[in-house]
Amino acid sequence: MLIIKTIKHLRQTLSESRRKGQKIGFVPTMGYFHEGHLSLMRRAKKECDICVVSIYVNPKQFAPQEDLNRYPRDIKRDVKIAKKENVDILFIPSDNVIYPNCYLTYIDVEKISNTLCGKSRPGHFKGVATVVAKLLNIIQPDVMYLGQKDAQQVAVLSRMAADLNFPVCIRALPTVREKDGLAMSSRNVLLTSHERSQAPVLHKALTDAVMRIQAGERLSCRITGSVHRMITQRSDGKVQYVACVDADTLEPLKILKGKVLIALGVFFGKTRLIDNVIVPLKNSRKV
Ligand code: AMP
Repeated sequence: MLIIKTIKHLRQTLSESRRKGQKIGFVPTMGYFHEGHLSLMRRAKKECDICVVSIYVNPKQFAPQEDLNRYPRDIKRDVKIAKKENVDILFIPSDNVIYPNCYLTYIDVEKISNTLCGKSRPGHFKGVATVVAKLLNIIQPDVMYLGQKDAQQVAVLSRMAADLNFPVCIRALPTVREKDGLAMSSRNVLLTSHERSQAPVLHKALTDAVMRIQAGERLSCRITGSVHRMITQRSDGKVQYVACVDADTLEPLKILKGKVLIALGVFFGKTRLIDNVIVPLKNSRKV
């Protein structure tokens, strides 16, 4: 496995792969790997000739009061894991490689960046879109692998790639969960043991919502209400949002129809967790 820290070195290496006609798969991450990350790496290895994984905790996607400094990091451990997964290239740029002093350019994917998580994290998706646009330009992968756990990120980056004609195919893979249903996240280690024991309620509430929809419920407010209630009644979680939206456009739905995304953001103590589920519906009639 090559560990690369500069753009020049990465470009040289990948231009050789491209000359040989190799298919390049790319997995952008902020490191502190867990099985969710590994599922993306494994799929990239399976479908592509070269698997490039980046580790970069992007300061531009954290607001000043957010957890940039608390964000878990362990590069040594990540290197070992990536080697074991047969990753071909691990790209670990520093801040001044990505944002040199003269840096001025940002990508703003309007509207869909400002709903759900974006409402309480203004500027977050501008940071995400900007860094991923840069990484796509640097790496020029054939396929980029993302996790459905970050559903809004998938929607924003898919819109950006389509709008700006990035020649990349985006694959969103299912959320990998702990045995008790909690979506894997690097932030889970920040939970106290009490918070950790309560956090699976998020998945339970979403699963319960899916059952209600399967039983015929189509009113969005009833679904969001029941999810909200279950979380607050069964845990100390502070709900930031629960919403039913169209999975592609993130437009709010009053009546559930089409590809429904039920998404939530909840604080357990200082740690903010997100989770979601997609429910494909054929039509708006009761089943
Ligand atoms: P992060 O390091 O948290 O920025 O995540 C890097 C990539 O891994 C993103 O595309 C995430 O959506 C994806 N990811 C994070 N957690 C999971 C999970 N539990 N299951 C699947 N993919 C995930």
